[in-house]
Amino acid sequence: MSNWLPDFEPLPDPEAVIAPEITETECRQCGTRVSGLDGRYACGVCGWVNDHSEGHRPLPVAEDDADFPGRKPGRARRT
Ligand SMILES: [Zn+2]
Repeated sequence: MSNWLPDFEPLPDPEAVIAPEITETECRQCGTRVSGLDGRYACGVCGWVNDHSEGHRPLPVAEDDADFPGRKPGRARRT
């Protein structure tokens, strides 16, 4: 008999991880129910997309990406 138990990693603090929220709406062009992330949608039926500014959160900018090629150490983020 083995007493082996899986070694659980502690879950990360949910507040520390900003995960996009899955949201739903009706396509404004064809009425299909579409799912999106943070209020941003793309309809797979007719190709309608809403404007990125309608999202619930600001989009990350290129400089936020860890692999951004133009990253310069110590440089403040452009506004
Ligand atoms: Zn549509």
